[in-house]
Amino acid sequence: MKKIITALLLASSFAAHTTNNEFTATQLQQVSELRDKALNSDLSYQLLESLTTEVGPRLPGTDNDKKAVAWAKAQFEQLGFDKVWLEEASFPEWRRFSESGKIITPSEQPLHLTALGHSVSTPKAGITAEVVLFETLDELIAAPANSLTGKIAYINYKMNRDIDGNGYGPAVRARSTGSVEAAKKGAIGYMMRSVSTAHHRFAHTGASRYQDGVSKIPNVAIANPDADQIARLIALGKPVKVNINIQTEDLGEGQSYNVIGQFNGTENPEQYVLIGGHLDSWDLGTGALDDGAGVALTMAAAKHISEIKRPKRSVRVVLFAAEELGLWGAKAYFKQHANELDKIVAAAESDFGADVVYGFESNVSAHSLPIVRAIAKQLAPLNVAYIAKNDAHGGPDLIPLKNATSAAIFSLHQNGTDYFDYHHTADDTLDKVDPVKLKQNTAAYAVFAFMAADAKTTIKAKPAK
Ligand SMILES: [Zn+2]
Repeated sequence: MKKIITALLLASSFAAHTTNNEFTATQLQQVSELRDKALNSDLSYQLLESLTTEVGPRLPGTDNDKKAVAWAKAQFEQLGFDKVWLEEASFPEWRRFSESGKIITPSEQPLHLTALGHSVSTPKAGITAEVVLFETLDELIAAPANSLTGKIAYINYKMNRDIDGNGYGPAVRARSTGSVEAAKKGAIGYMMRSVSTAHHRFAHTGASRYQDGVSKIPNVAIANPDADQIARLIALGKPVKVNINIQTEDLGEGQSYNVIGQFNGTENPEQYVLIGGHLDSWDLGTGALDDGAGVALTMAAAKHISEIKRPKRSVRVVLFAAEELGLWGAKAYFKQHANELDKIVAAAESDFGADVVYGFESNVSAHSLPIVRAIAKQLAPLNVAYIAKNDAHGGPDLIPLKNATSAAIFSLHQNGTDYFDYHHTADDTLDKVDPVKLKQNTAAYAVFAFMAADAKTTIKAKPAK
């Protein structure tokens, strides 16, 4: 909290001493009207309620995923976007059918688990084997060859809770490649503590991957309380055996669509500000936080802008496909638009839940910093602090853009303190979204996108590396 307060103080002191010529008094009046309009509108919540209720979970390639694509296209059209279109994206399709687990010895009890994305099935009766505990992935990697033959490798690593979600990256390493490392040592199954900050008894799913030449073993995460229980049982010094039963299917290459809506700019329509989120979700919850909120609030933000004034440059909302299975929609989008990436004058993705935006950060050429500061000044009334590092990374779907070229990427940092309590669980549902906070997010995206699209000069990226 101290960090935020300091940043807020810095933001207000600099704002008082800054003026620039990027925006006229009329434009700033429009920004003020836009901010109020978004703060007083239920549109983003209505969209989120509709998506999570009428469609529900949206695992890529499922019938629900197809319904979500049709839903998004219809909503864009109904909201009056000038252009609405689909772009194909392919991905490795995968399904979960059933999953269960129990501790067998030293005392039989339930084990709350979930299959990790892309995991193979167990035999119909499941696998029953002794658990070998490692505190970290590196400990597993350091285990002697063949030391896990016939065993289930278990990583007990617990992610830490913080506002910016910095505990996620280190914890996800064990989810991505843990089963590969376990199989290399002879394990017949892989189990990990969920990538989670929660106390509830839901397991958190997420993508994992196999490696050619290494045997594919079933791959699960267990809920935090179950992970604590396993650790206590192992500490007693007697063999701990569990049964894991997951039934899944790898369906080969599947197809979905990025759904895109645009309001055309009045002076330079070929240039655009890109905002958006990902339309797909995991199958356990209804994908309200991840990432229905990002979808709904960026659609609503663009709509609110169009009701105030069409900016000079276009505002494009991209709803990416198949993010959860490996950023497939984003890879397809930035590949398809590879020859015109310089038309993206600013890009920001909302994919971190629905708690308030607390910080605004750019990644632009030094020449464009006056525009950034002017935007920051208009975000300040929303309690959004300016983070002056100019090193924003953006959301996950912007990674392919960042890898392809130098781009003007922005982060509207959301408070992620509680995000990993619900992330990728059955508990990611609409009731976790505070409508008032969603309005603040919508207003912040609206102000940012409008000003980036309507500034006098075009925002420039840092020189290419
Ligand atoms: Zn997401």
